[in-house]
Amino acid sequence: VPADGRERSAEEWRTAARAFADREILPRNEEIARTERIPTPIRDGLARGGFMGLTVPQDLGGSSASTLAVVQVLSEIARGSAAVATLLSVHLSVACAPIVSWGTPEQKARYLPAMATGERLGAFALTEPGAGSDAGAIQTRFRREPEGFRLDGSKMFITNGGLADLLLLFATEDPVLGRKAVSAFLVEHGTPGLSVSQKLAKLGLDGSETTELVLDGVRLPADARLGPEGQGIRIALKALTDGRVGIAACALGVAEASLEELIAAARRSAADVHRARAARAYAEVLAARALVERAARTKDAGEPFVEAASAAKLIATRAAVDASNAAVEVAGFEGGLARSRASGLLRDARVFPIVEGTSEVQELILGRSLVGTR
Ligand SMILES: Cc1cc2nc3c(=O)[nH]c(=O)nc-3n(C[C@H](O)[C@H](O)[C@H](O)COP(=O)(O)OP(=O)(O)OC[C@H]3O[C@@H](n4cnc5c(N)ncnc54)[C@H](O)[C@@H]3O)c2cc1C
Repeated sequence: VPADGRERSAEEWRTAARAFADREILPRNEEIARTERIPTPIRDGLARGGFMGLTVPQDLGGSSASTLAVVQVLSEIARGSAAVATLLSVHLSVACAPIVSWGTPEQKARYLPAMATGERLGAFALTEPGAGSDAGAIQTRFRREPEGFRLDGSKMFITNGGLADLLLLFATEDPVLGRKAVSAFLVEHGTPGLSVSQKLAKLGLDGSETTELVLDGVRLPADARLGPEGQGIRIALKALTDGRVGIAACALGVAEASLEELIAAARRSAADVHRARAARAYAEVLAARALVERAARTKDAGEPFVEAASAAKLIATRAAVDASNAAVEVAGFEGGLARSRASGLLRDARVFPIVEGTSEVQELILGRSLVGTR
């Protein structure tokens, strides 16, 4: 909070996040890649800086920040490390925010204050080995029991899956009944029957934990369901639309870091063709920032933002891939080294078009909205 007690502006949040990324994250990138985990001082710093509570209301210990502030923070943190930004984006957009929107007063009071301070980390568990883009095809079952619910099944590609203290997890009463049979549940870490069956090695985002989870007779109390029965897919899709703006901001940060690398490499070579690559990437990155900020402002204005979110994710993730690819090429041999900054950015960038709705899914959403369905 600024000295005069008023709320921080989005620009002030951005400045704070940039300083944190420069001071605490960038110097630890090599350690993140080597250990494939996010060092404790970074987790602590995210908490101390107030970043973990951005989407939590002030009366529950957060800062009720605008979406514009969230995207400014995520893009600056991602400029430092895409893995750190992904941990934060998932916690803020698809764990805290749905509890704010759908939680009972008791659920909010139980979980949100500790999530806002960073004491507890959140995760979102929808995807399964056979259900990615088609979320309605999930097979993880819940059964009603006298005391509450019993869950059985598995979840795939879950960010923060083993680290999280709380999972927002989706299960169906009966897969043949389709989307209307899916409900959302809050599952605490350490609940008997919940385990991590594997940590997945990925193309990029070293340090962001991605896991497969198994649920074997997980018993939950009756008040563990989030939102009304049968509204799970609605809750998931709303969370993913919010999350899309966050992931677009993460991709934007990678695009901006890649542009810095590209310009530095082009200065070394001073070839006209490399100047042109830098110019093209510059224009694409500016366009991505404009779209990400526009999606955030549209959401903050309370207007429908589904199209703005999809357009921002489509373009920002493409800008990240294009700019990092150009940075690798322009740096030549050095860019191609496994541990070069440019190759690390390219590996990170390549993951973002897949998560929280692939590029094809964004095109489907936009296409249906623009052209209609028959
Ligand atoms: C690093 C990482 C982190 C992740 N974190 C999480 C997480 O925290 N929680 C979570 O629940 N999930 C998470 N996911 C899962 C992610 O959301 C899915 O990978 C994504 O939804 C795609 O699903 P899929 O992998 O099953 O691919 P599929 O849905 O099988 O798609 C394969 C290809 O087919 C295309 N395709 C699919 N359907 C259509 C269609 N109807 N029309 C046109 N093209 C189509 C896709 O675009 C894609 O190119 C994560 C994934 C990754 C890689």
